[in-house]
Amino acid sequence: MKIAPERVVSIHYTLTNDAGDQLDSSAGGEPLSYLHGSHGLIPGLESELDGRVAGDQFKATILPAEAYGEVNPSLIQEVPLDALAGIENLQVGMQLQSQSPDGRVQMLVVDEIGAESATLNANHALAGMVLHFEVEVAEVREATAEELDHGHAH
Ligand code: ZN
Repeated sequence: MKIAPERVVSIHYTLTNDAGDQLDSSAGGEPLSYLHGSHGLIPGLESELDGRVAGDQFKATILPAEAYGEVNPSLIQEVPLDALAGIENLQVGMQLQSQSPDGRVQMLVVDEIGAESATLNANHALAGMVLHFEVEVAEVREATAEELDHGHAH
């Protein structure tokens, strides 16, 4: 069965960056399952998978525009340490949650801590990065009526 919209696809994958560092992998665990054609994966990887069948193996290089987008400088802000005084043990790499003015929950990563301020970054951790995937298609099946209704794989 070929990968096409309204089919549930399971893949094993390893993700590395340009430097060859492994960022993520499903090896040794459950494969990743998603409903094809419902934006369950980054667009570049979904289009690489289109039309393939179980057992296919391939490598794909995905540019930021087809992955998590470019880094948006307006999502990087400097905040006075005073404003972060309530956070215990503040350190670089720490993830913080904040609420934007329109009420959305935002994840921020502490990029830098200076003498008087810290740099907080709300970009996706993989924004601006060229992603290298090694993929093996584990299974392709028809989605159930419930999965189509929910818009995701179960
Ligand atoms: Zn559901």
